[in-house]
Amino acid sequence: MATYLPRPVLGVDYYPEHWPEENWRLDAEQMCVIGLKVVRIGEFAWSKLEPRQEVYDFDWIDRAVETLDTQGLKVIIGTPTAAPPPWMAEMRPDILARTREGQVLTVGGRRFYCPSNAFYRTQTFRIARELARHFLQNYSVIGWQIDNEMGNHGNCRCYCATCKLNWHSWLQQRYNSVDNLNKAWGTIFWGQEFREWSQVPLPTGTGARYSPSLELDYYRFASDNAIEYFNLQLEAIREFWTPQRGFITHNIFYGDDNIDFFKMSAGLDFIAFDNYPHGMKATSDLAFYHDYVYGLKNEPHWVMEQAAGPINWTKYNPAVAPGQTRLWTLQNFLRGVQGTVYFNWREARFGGEQYHSGILNHDGRQHRVYHEIMSLSEELDKLPDNFFRKPKAKVALLFGFEDLWALQLEPHNEAFDYLQILKDIHASLLKRHVQCDILPRGTNSDTLKEYSLVVAAAPIISDYDESNDWQRFVVDGGKLLLITRVGAKEPSNVWTDRPQPAALYEWLNIRVEEMLSFPPYLPGAHPNKLIGDTPADADVPVSLYDEVTGRTLQAKRLWLELLDPQEGTEIILRYGKVSDSDFFQGSVGLASCKLGNGEAYYLGVLPTAGTFDYLWVDLFRQECAPAVDNLPRYEGFEVIRTGDQGQYFALLNHNGYPLTIPLGTTYYKLDGSAVEQVTLKPYDVQFFRG
Ligand SMILES: [Zn+2]
Repeated sequence: MATYLPRPVLGVDYYPEHWPEENWRLDAEQMCVIGLKVVRIGEFAWSKLEPRQEVYDFDWIDRAVETLDTQGLKVIIGTPTAAPPPWMAEMRPDILARTREGQVLTVGGRRFYCPSNAFYRTQTFRIARELARHFLQNYSVIGWQIDNEMGNHGNCRCYCATCKLNWHSWLQQRYNSVDNLNKAWGTIFWGQEFREWSQVPLPTGTGARYSPSLELDYYRFASDNAIEYFNLQLEAIREFWTPQRGFITHNIFYGDDNIDFFKMSAGLDFIAFDNYPHGMKATSDLAFYHDYVYGLKNEPHWVMEQAAGPINWTKYNPAVAPGQTRLWTLQNFLRGVQGTVYFNWREARFGGEQYHSGILNHDGRQHRVYHEIMSLSEELDKLPDNFFRKPKAKVALLFGFEDLWALQLEPHNEAFDYLQILKDIHASLLKRHVQCDILPRGTNSDTLKEYSLVVAAAPIISDYDESNDWQRFVVDGGKLLLITRVGAKEPSNVWTDRPQPAALYEWLNIRVEEMLSFPPYLPGAHPNKLIGDTPADADVPVSLYDEVTGRTLQAKRLWLELLDPQEGTEIILRYGKVSDSDFFQGSVGLASCKLGNGEAYYLGVLPTAGTFDYLWVDLFRQECAPAVDNLPRYEGFEVIRTGDQGQYFALLNHNGYPLTIPLGTTYYKLDGSAVEQVTLKPYDVQFFRG
């Protein structure tokens, strides 16, 4: 299990093979000058490490490691398997992945390999093993990064003939017989019963649509298959490298969702991700992805590629302002990161990332971020040991890749976006300065009981073991908040034949009577129409009211569940009437059920800001204590507690304008000066005691 390092680590991604060897020493010296300690090299260098089959050239990388070592820099080797060399594809074109549309990928870019291909798997194992053995006695090398951004560019959902065979083997293991598969999927629908495994297609396209059971299983297979490929490298390196000798990690791209990264991270010493804030939709996504990646192993993580400047793959690739690199780096460390490795040392002069920024410009000049990182590393040096510690949250939000995939395949309402719903919940807590951990579906009650409140939004795939853990968590005194689409589907992605929520049926006395979906609003449309896809009044909220206090709230007019509370259940909110089409007026929208020492809640609608306030302030006030009391809430203003005793806190301003924050009481800055109000400059971070 990874433990916290006493000091934060800064590093950089470096491609020595891109630059004349005579530059390397100056590069290493400058890295050292600005306080960098680790350098990742090697990823994508297969064509240079093995120019012909089983003809290795490791001399150049040895010299690169040695040059870095002379400056005291430690090295992380990236295995080069994300980019097979062209000679290999010419020798064996079957290593190339096939898209759903039937296009065979070609060499020239990266991530064009098929993860099932036996020849490619052998080559992968061999190069990883050769490198692991080669560097074992070289103590400048401290760890490994397997491949690069598994799941990126879509090649892990490959539709080639080899993948079809692997798919059939995977199905045989899961269902044992074709009859079992037919029953589990309900293939009698449209008369699509299979008689042989070979008849089961890859979902490349059919008339009408596939069974969602087939599609979800294909997603599961593709994820398991990619993990099987990935674990080959883990095995090859582990043969030589114990966790004591060096770590093994992987850098996921935060936005990828076609591999179950909870499963993929299991064998790693820690997980890392590539943090490109300008590729995200909202500032609050930064904290979300940190908490999600931390949650993959529920342990400290790394950022293996941290944008030091603009990126090259969004629509506008905006500039990175002075201070933003410091802000993002400090946020990393405050949210559980051990090491921040910047991408990239020097801007590439060729290839597909020439507009991707670096710490040095294309011509070798020091970019302004060079000086920003240098002063940041001096600032970090002055902080006490064990300064950065991610606070332990009292609230946990559950994340399930199978729920995500099932709802991508059948959202029923195209605006029902599973990931966005989770982000909205997380952001609403973040805005109130409440820490929220992210844990996988299936987390057992021993871990759940460390939290006061567990939130499960749209956990649509039933998990009967987990249901027992949820029950135990509630009986032992926990609070469980369920938000819509709970357990509508059985694990094979067929609809449950029990009353919903199916897996919770035995112990939760709340039923879902009816589900209602609402189309989006278009200006000018008649506000009360509910015919087909005719735009209705989606911008008009749904109203909810508390019968006891008379308080009214608003929620999203997108997805509504009318609840049927059974005996012993408390009705908390009912739906009100906003427009004439609100025939559901008076139905129950939020109910709760006491069980042992705890309570389970079912909310039948997606919250808006007002509903979140009601939840976090009124219903779960005790569970949702902020990191620091009485601070204002502003867009882009973040508060994080830190320190091994939680004795410090940080205020972060993600905005390009200053914020003045009344602190409500006297706090002390790290230099001992007392403050009652503070002004944060644009992109500023300040630390306080108390
Ligand atoms: Zn394939």
